[in-house]
Amino acid sequence: MNIINFPPNITTTEKAANEVSRLLIVDDDIVLARSLQQLTELVGYQVKVCNRGVEALALLALESFDLLLLDLVMPGMDGHAVIDNVRRDFPQIPIIVVTATGTVSEAAQSLEKGVYDFIRKPYEPAELLRTIENALAKSQLERIQAVTSSKLDHYENLNHYLVDSSPDIIYTLDEKGRFTFVNKRVFSLLGYLVDELIGEHYSMLVYGEDIDAAKYAFRAQSSFERATYNVELRLRCQSDREEYRYFDISFIPILNTAHVDHIGEGREFLPLKGSYGVARDITERKKVEYAMAYQAHHDMLTGLPNRTLFNDRLEISIAHARRNHHRLAVLFLDLDRFKWVNDTLGHIYGDELLKNVASRLKSCLREGDTLARIGGDEFTIILPEVPNKDDVPMVARKILATLEQAFVLDNREINISASIGVAIFPDHGDTIDALTKSADIAMYHVKWKGKNGFMQYDSSMDSIFHQKMSIESDLRKAIENNELELYFQPQVDVNTLKVVGLEALTRWHHEDRGWIPPAEFIPLAEEAGLISMLTYWLIKQVTIQHHRMQKAGFGDISIAVNVSPESVLKHDFVSNFLLSLRSENIANEAIEIEITENIIMQDMENSILKLNELSRQGVKIAIDDFGTGYSSLAYLQKLPMHSIKLDQTFVHNIQFIGQELPIVSAIIGIAKGFNLKMIAEGVETTEQMQVLKSLGCSVMQGYLFSKPLPMSGVLAMLRSQDRLFA
Ligand code: C2E
Ligand code: CA
Ligand code: CA
Repeated sequence: MNIINFPPNITTTEKAANEVSRLLIVDDDIVLARSLQQLTELVGYQVKVCNRGVEALALLALESFDLLLLDLVMPGMDGHAVIDNVRRDFPQIPIIVVTATGTVSEAAQSLEKGVYDFIRKPYEPAELLRTIENALAKSQLERIQAVTSSKLDHYENLNHYLVDSSPDIIYTLDEKGRFTFVNKRVFSLLGYLVDELIGEHYSMLVYGEDIDAAKYAFRAQSSFERATYNVELRLRCQSDREEYRYFDISFIPILNTAHVDHIGEGREFLPLKGSYGVARDITERKKVEYAMAYQAHHDMLTGLPNRTLFNDRLEISIAHARRNHHRLAVLFLDLDRFKWVNDTLGHIYGDELLKNVASRLKSCLREGDTLARIGGDEFTIILPEVPNKDDVPMVARKILATLEQAFVLDNREINISASIGVAIFPDHGDTIDALTKSADIAMYHVKWKGKNGFMQYDSSMDSIFHQKMSIESDLRKAIENNELELYFQPQVDVNTLKVVGLEALTRWHHEDRGWIPPAEFIPLAEEAGLISMLTYWLIKQVTIQHHRMQKAGFGDISIAVNVSPESVLKHDFVSNFLLSLRSENIANEAIEIEITENIIMQDMENSILKLNELSRQGVKIAIDDFGTGYSSLAYLQKLPMHSIKLDQTFVHNIQFIGQELPIVSAIIGIAKGFNLKMIAEGVETTEQMQVLKSLGCSVMQGYLFSKPLPMSGVLAMLRSQDRLFA
């Protein structure tokens, strides 16, 4: 790399205009020399005289002179030798020969050597002075020219240096778009040699997808007058045509009138017409921008598009469908048991499961479809074109089927399912929001209908949806404001006709809608993530009420509480539960937990763990709705149960269908065999009671004895117990 000093050090060779010129006269004839000196001093020159050629050269080496007046014939070194020396060592000093002897050929010879003029003695003073003046003027002019051209040389070097060492690619194109110049930076940035590009069309450098943008910019530039243009393009690397870097390119057109001076020999690169441009490498900045944009548009866990990108894609799909008059589908998918996995197995399992679900879902879709994760366990799908009515159900069924196979995480099998809502453009909405909302509403209906399935949106779903949604928010308030109530249904020993236990049942009196049955709001609470809150409330209330019973002298009657699986399987359920009992000073044995058979079957391992923990602490456990699930004797052995509750349906069917009897009697047999307490639920008639009693079941619960009552009612009943069921 050539280093150039700046500013250029060239002013020293210039001579100020008002400075007096210095002459040197060289002549062996002293008299003549003196008269010449007098003449020239008279007009203002500074003059020195010497009589020998050698002396003259020595003086020239010491001092600076502007002109030499030289005699040819001298002893020792003659005038010719002086001329040769001066031309060689001081080429800028003009020489005028003043001689008496010179022949024409001598004169010609001296002029050839670069002598300014040849004057014969005796000279005409005026002519001589004019000649001196002219010689000085010419030499001055030459000096100025020399300075100027050295300045130009300098600037040209500087230009080349700056151009080649620029961090940017600098280029010119001719009017057809072919490279006429490009600096060396193109090699370090893209790997091309300068010579490879000269004469080539710019498009050979432009990355395929950006060709149109490049052409557009190039055309715009050729059709408008002078201005700067800007375009961002990807330019291909020489080594790999698919590799590229990003450039921010600024360029200006070069017009016919462009005045291009002194570009330097062999470097005539500016065309008369075309463009001049600077391409700045912005690859690093772009990488950061892309990383940020990726993060803004993707879910980091699964790598799927997030809600923002989903919305973008849906907008494009809608516009496309509208233009082409076709239908598109939005699927809203919510995993059914995800919260449970997260709560009971932990977030690491939850995350792993989501990743696995994402990849299974992807395998059900085609390339043009979009799968996005827009929330914890919520996925959305765009099917941009659905020509046939059956297309969407087919995809939905495929998804449900692929989720049906158990996921194996860390050697553990996990079963989940999904609820899918479907909305079709334009039937169920023609905007992003409308379609997504319709699909969401349809998804909720699948949840309410028992999950694991799909439904297409229908306008009749709206009112139910809004009702449920408002109930949901009311329920939250009700729990927070302690507006729910606990009722208690007695469990009666039919042999003694005494109340041996109570089942706590939650009641919600909604100020506008009246009584809302638990069968309706408990699933809602589960869906809305309110169930833990409800369970804590429930346990608190139960302990308070049991305390009341103790004070009334009925502390030996236990209370059973229904706990939803979501709560029971939570890691801190057992400790929280025991803590609540302790804070009200309730014996662990006083509270029984009812858990449905189906729940246990869903996650045996965890259930056994939790129930064992409770049982070890003295808490009693009842299996609710016994006989409705896949009752297996194997699990009865593993579970620390105290009682089983015969499901109401068996009880109700006793009097109608004789065939139920063997089943009921078998269940009662099982309870006996395992030494479990048996409670028959929903006993409404004395007939039912008598049949059950004859089969060996003694504890019963049902309207025949009492409906669920508030604690005050229960206490009143217990006080008059002796007279009650007699
Ligand atoms: P379950 O545990 O099977 O409760 C028994 C249900 O049968 C209660 O309905 C009760 O009122 C009703 N019942 C009692 N005797 C008779 C009868 O002779 N005939 C008929 N037809 N029904 C009778 P309820 O209170 O509406 O509760 C429904 C379900 O809601 C309960 O079923 C239970 O699974 C759930 N549940 C109630 N309270 C809570 C609670 O606090 N937490 C949780 N997690 N679930 C609750
Ligand atoms: Ca129950
Ligand atoms: Ca039950």
